Amino acid sequence: MSREAYQVPAQLNQNAFSTDMGAGAVDGPSVFYRCGDCYARVSLKRGDQIRCKDCGHRVLYKERTKRMVQFEAR
Ligand SMILES: [Zn+2]
Repeated sequence: MSREAYQVPAQLNQNAFSTDMGAGAVDGPSVFYRCGDCYARVSLKRGDQIRCKDCGHRVLYKERTKRMVQFEAR
């Protein structure tokens, strides 16, 4: 009977949020984004979560540049 060693996968990555809000936050200028879903205008400051405040969509387009900014929350 030969059993191969079974490797147990490391702990599942827990969705740990580590936002250091209020720790001497720099008040940067707001940047405007457009929601990729509902096209609402979203203004975000530094440290804000990239997320449409209207529908919760996480794909936002920066208004000035046409680059897409996507953050995957997993
Ligand atoms: Zn939206």
